[in-house]
Amino acid sequence: MQKIKRLKAFLNTPKKVIITTHYKPDADALGSSLGLAGFLKKKGHQVTVISPSDYPDFLKWMSGEKDVINFEADNEKKSAKLVEEADIIFCLDFNCLTRINKLGEYVAEADAVKVLIDHHPDPKRFAEYELWSTQAAATAELIYEFINLLGGRTAIDQDIAECLYAGIMTDTGQFKHPSTTKNVHEVTADLIGLGADIAKVGRNIYDNNSLDRLKFTGFALSKRLKVLEPQHTAYFRISKADLKKYNSKTGDTEGLVNYALSLKGIVFSAVIIERPETIRMSLRSKGNFSVNDFARKHFSGGGHPNAAGGKSDLSLDETVEKFEQLVKTYEKQLNNFYKKTN
Ligand code: 5GP
Ligand code: MN
Repeated sequence: MQKIKRLKAFLNTPKKVIITTHYKPDADALGSSLGLAGFLKKKGHQVTVISPSDYPDFLKWMSGEKDVINFEADNEKKSAKLVEEADIIFCLDFNCLTRINKLGEYVAEADAVKVLIDHHPDPKRFAEYELWSTQAAATAELIYEFINLLGGRTAIDQDIAECLYAGIMTDTGQFKHPSTTKNVHEVTADLIGLGADIAKVGRNIYDNNSLDRLKFTGFALSKRLKVLEPQHTAYFRISKADLKKYNSKTGDTEGLVNYALSLKGIVFSAVIIERPETIRMSLRSKGNFSVNDFARKHFSGGGHPNAAGGKSDLSLDETVEKFEQLVKTYEKQLNNFYKKTN
């Protein structure tokens, strides 16, 4: 925490900066990256944001988004060169280099100073500098803190404030998760004071559905949602064919998992999706049931106690079967957690 302050002197002269974030970035990942990029550019640095993959259309309003390099979209050579030549690399909103896939191999080898800014539990220690706290609701909250540590608060303009606000708004579930502390509201209030148009950000993120996406959501809710009542669990099973039928794009399934969690009596929810390369899972919980532990233990994943993800190399049906069997073994725990949250 104190050590990271030393970066103030380092960043006093123009540097070649790379900012990267996790695979399939969400609003916190991309908002933190572009918020920090906007700030560092203003300070005279040469800044490039590299995303390991594409990201949803509803994030494409963010200032600086057009210049983001998508590593996966045939940009490996270009990215490798930029990473190799960088003076400093910021790793935002992820806790281990495997979360950025092959890009992580280049980052690991780079000579640059590495900085981790993140709020996920149990980070791997690959960076010389860390601003890490699981108390932070969003990485964007930590970016705000970092800019303040550098004495740069007054450089936060509307564009930067809106990127950071987007990360905080989404990672707190629109200010309703237990992570929504007094500090979250204070930071948010300051971002509004610095120019963030919060109605615009809300519209851009939540009122930006394609008709396909809405219809897909309706289909998933009526045909693909299963409730395991004795275990207070609900999950969606989404096949490759389902995605194809509704012309599904990156981000179209984001948020689906929350519908399952919104059911009365449910404390654990999942979306199990057949992606081209693997079966992906998105997990959420209410109260003390740790989906981070569940994902780490059974589905080679991780995340936060109440929001995590994982994957499976089994078929979709086998994964669903494994999930149901596992959930049964947690029945007692889930019942206890249910009683505590109600
Ligand atoms: P989502 O369900 O929205 O994709 O992810 C929820 C949370 O879990 C996010 O904080 C995300 O970074 C994390 N997460 C998702 N998938 C994985 C994974 O495979 N490994 C790890 N370590 N974290 C993940
Ligand atoms: Mn985050």
